[in-house]
Amino acid sequence: MDHFSLIGGQLHAEQVPLARIADEVGSPVYVYSRATLERHADVFREGLAGVPRKHLAFAVKSNPNLAVLKVLAKRGYGADVVSGGELDRALAAGMAPADIVFSGVGKTADEIRHALATGIGQFNIESEEEGEMLAAIADSMGLTAAAVLRINPDVDAGTHAKISTGKADNKFGVGLHVGPGIYGRLSQLPGIGLRGVAVHIGSQLLSLDPLEAAFGKIGQLVADLRGSGHIITHVDLGGGLGVPYQADSNPPSPAEYGALVARVTRDWDATIQFEPGRVIAGNAGVLLTRVIRVKPGIKHPFVVVDAAMNDLARPALYDAWHDFEAVVPDGTRMTANIVGPVCESGDTFAMNRDIDTVAAGDLAVFRTAGAYGATMASSYNSRGIVAEVLVDGDRFAVVANRITPAEIMAAEQVPDWL
Ligand SMILES: *Cc1c(COP(=O)(O)O)cnc(C)c1O
Repeated sequence: MDHFSLIGGQLHAEQVPLARIADEVGSPVYVYSRATLERHADVFREGLAGVPRKHLAFAVKSNPNLAVLKVLAKRGYGADVVSGGELDRALAAGMAPADIVFSGVGKTADEIRHALATGIGQFNIESEEEGEMLAAIADSMGLTAAAVLRINPDVDAGTHAKISTGKADNKFGVGLHVGPGIYGRLSQLPGIGLRGVAVHIGSQLLSLDPLEAAFGKIGQLVADLRGSGHIITHVDLGGGLGVPYQADSNPPSPAEYGALVARVTRDWDATIQFEPGRVIAGNAGVLLTRVIRVKPGIKHPFVVVDAAMNDLARPALYDAWHDFEAVVPDGTRMTANIVGPVCESGDTFAMNRDIDTVAAGDLAVFRTAGAYGATMASSYNSRGIVAEVLVDGDRFAVVANRITPAEIMAAEQVPDWL
């Protein structure tokens, strides 16, 4: 459920007409709903009522906007970060260092040192080599780094190949068969306090079956590690729950997910950690755009909007679907291709799509754009970096300024020998 709805024939975010935001901030612009973020944060937590000891860490990469992070921090969420930049954002948004977990295959020595100095709660180690580096750096700083070892369970998440992370040939984690050996060797090192394992098999999962398969393997591994004398207090089950990009898609609910987790982990006797991203932020945002013109096509017209693949990369990257709705629908429909202005055929949001009738100058939204939207924006074609707005009831604030092409150009210089 979200708080984007028609009031008096006009699409609103909570009580704010989207047209007002476009007038004051321009377009394209991402618009987030605070009430929706809070609702999703609460619903996810309530779904896990059957898990007695748990920790919730929002996957910052899905939406790293400081105001969004602040909303979630106030809702008791920590952060799952994958870079020093994300770590600094989580801290700046007021998340407690102890509530931050650091994932990712390429943590650099500088990032590890910085994370240790800030006192983050946990490192999710993705290789033996990384574990050795973490141990050496922590030891040299006189610290013991709390860590878990990420396991690649070799499970097909059944999602798009580019967001699948738990197959044996994906770069993430260490294989199940080598996991116990690596765990044993790393646990001998000074500077590292291994306390469990982590798993994250992919994103936009539309079935619980791959998760159940992965969690089952993790449960067996935990038992085996304990059998070898290791003390396991934490198991991180990652994120990945899908969201309905299309009205008729039916991903598992947080309650169904929570029931599965409660059942599978009942005897684990550990703190269960979660790293939800998309399920919290996805439906809490729209990308508001204006139609530049409608151009005839061979079969259907091209609706050319002022948002492009540099603002919302998911369709170009993953062939993703985003519902498209007029801000002031007149009740009639048209079939069209929806494209942006960027000079690539990949800059296509939809082909042969049945949509609200729109004409040049009209406002429209791409729905479910709150996760993996603004965070992936680029300045390709020397376009600006898209602005972001947060709505709260009947008020709104710009939470990320538009970065203009001129500002981007100002960061470049031509050497005087040219
Ligand atoms: C991307 C990612 C997540 C979040 O995935 P969602 O599908 O957005 O919930 C969680 N954990 C890790 C390690 C990730 O890389």
